[in-house]
Amino acid sequence: MSNFKTHIYSGIFSYPLFMLIYYLIGRNIDSSFILGMNAVSLAFVFYVIGSDLPDLDSNTALIKRSMQFILMIFFTLFFYNIINDSSIHNKIYDFVSVDYLVVFISFTFSLILGFLVSKGLDLLNHRGFFHTFWAAAIYAFFTFSILNLNIFNSFNFDLNEFETTFITVSSFTGYSLHLVIDHFSSSFKENKFL
Ligand SMILES: [Zn+2]
Repeated sequence: MSNFKTHIYSGIFSYPLFMLIYYLIGRNIDSSFILGMNAVSLAFVFYVIGSDLPDLDSNTALIKRSMQFILMIFFTLFFYNIINDSSIHNKIYDFVSVDYLVVFISFTFSLILGFLVSKGLDLLNHRGFFHTFWAAAIYAFFTFSILNLNIFNSFNFDLNEFETTFITVSSFTGYSLHLVIDHFSSSFKENKFL
């Protein structure tokens, strides 16, 4: 287990190189491949967050507890936006026929889902699930889902498909970088002390 600083710095400083490699591959596949400033900036944020996200379990109790609440709020808003973007919203309206009741029901339902997911993540966390490539894939999936929410598009980031894919792959790579560094730092320590 490496510490917070190692992971964050490795994330920050390896990002330009990752972007360059991605650009080279992208250009080879499609000559019109281009990444705008918004995509480069957003991918950086998701990449660097990913590079320390697996260590939520090894941080101090205070950070862990506040993270749990932040995740709960985040997932509540995530589900609330999904409900609003989907046909579930209309189905609730068909059922109650009052607009503010639709808001009340969909928000409360999102809150319960957000609570359950944050509790579920906490359970998985104790079993070391965060230090697996499955978790990296889930993080990438969440990034992709966020980029496709209507509320995200209202910020006018104006991303094309190349860019959405790039940000999603950046999340996965940043997260995976953490796992690779943990792997090598633990085998390095083993060699040193045996
Ligand atoms: Zn770790």
